[in-house]
Amino acid sequence: MKAIIIGGGIGGLTAAIALKRCGITTEVYEAVKEIRPVGAAISIWPNGVKCLNWLGMKESLKQLGGAMEFMAYKECVHGQTLTRFSLDPLIKSVGERPYPVARAELQEMLMDTYGREDIQFGKRVTRVEEFDGGVRAFFEDGHVAVGDVLIAADGTHSAIRPYVLGHQTERRYAGYVNWNGLVEIDESIAPANQWTTFVGEGKRVSLMPVAGNRFYFFFDVPLEKGLHEDRSTVKADLTRYFSGWAPAVQKLISAIDPGTTNRIEIHDIEPFMQLVRGRVALLGDSGHSTTPDIGQGGCAAMEDAVVLAVALQTNSLGIEDALLRYQEKRAYRVKDLVLKARKRCDVTHGKDMSVTHSWYEELKSETGERVLSGMRETILGGPLE
Ligand code: FAD
Repeated sequence: MKAIIIGGGIGGLTAAIALKRCGITTEVYEAVKEIRPVGAAISIWPNGVKCLNWLGMKESLKQLGGAMEFMAYKECVHGQTLTRFSLDPLIKSVGERPYPVARAELQEMLMDTYGREDIQFGKRVTRVEEFDGGVRAFFEDGHVAVGDVLIAADGTHSAIRPYVLGHQTERRYAGYVNWNGLVEIDESIAPANQWTTFVGEGKRVSLMPVAGNRFYFFFDVPLEKGLHEDRSTVKADLTRYFSGWAPAVQKLISAIDPGTTNRIEIHDIEPFMQLVRGRVALLGDSGHSTTPDIGQGGCAAMEDAVVLAVALQTNSLGIEDALLRYQEKRAYRVKDLVLKARKRCDVTHGKDMSVTHSWYEELKSETGERVLSGMRETILGGPLE
């Protein structure tokens, strides 16, 4: 069996590694000549970590992951702690720890594991077509790839999604802008072993440790879409949006490097239940685009990859049947993740400020139990025990 994989991001590469591991021949086609991941880092929650472990990357991932032991929320003005608790009960109950990792390093690890010489860069797919017994992908440069099955891991702007769904989809603006980057750890801003989040005014500032003595930081601000802001204005913009916030937040703003800070208007796509058509399967953001509010978009892509590879390897009724089984296993799971993230997004970002204020109040009496039990439920919904 030969699989054509479109996209060399987290989804495409984990799928390629998983299929290869199951004895399936793979070809990976990536549109850009050099992958520059959007976003500085990513938290891989235990459901995603288990998928990477299963794919043979356990030791490499450990090297990249930050030592995140605690979680804390702080109020925005004085930086006083609202709640702080250990992640240990979560780790014990799900059987694995989370790893925040720098995206560029995750991308390198995935390319090394798959074999970067086997990735065809600069190949942008324009359309796909099925024929009796196979599928063809057509590329901008005139190349045509032929295989038995095609995995569309071409991200949120997927060129192949309309083929699968039979219609176009609209991206929905989630109502906030996210700035993110990496900065050297400074314990006068936050402890090195903690996921620290300052909250107030429907905004947040968050720091997570990644390997190499660095914090992954992000700032979220509810804003209209399409403002004329970019890297050249980032310090002035953040100083304005976070005026009056705690000294640690001001210190973080002065420490960041505008040249490597990303500004992203956050979107998702209304979930849909169709993930496959014939011999073509959507995987990762092409099949489910979510806001990053529960940190599960990339983890869900890793889950897709594992489930798809197992379905193709273990099924003897043919590719179309295997893809339908993949769809059956994944459609509800990914819909649930997108909707959970949307709900969390609205509470965090002040869609209804009275609800957001109630959440700030709840945090004062949070022991960790409620937060961790929500995370546990999400994590245990993954495919690996
Ligand atoms: P992508 O990463 O978008 O990769 C798609 C690839 O396909 C790209 O390399 C692209 O160049 C290529 N491509 C596109 N079109 C074509 C074409 N026509 N032909 C060939 N190739 C093509 N997830 C988590 O799990 N944890 C987090 O903490 C987290 N934080 C996030 C923070 C932010 C700010 C954002 C925006 C997202 C976050 N996510 C997180 C989500 C995560 O980044 C995505 O879910 C994940 O990157 C999706 O991977 P993918 O491979 O499906 O898509």
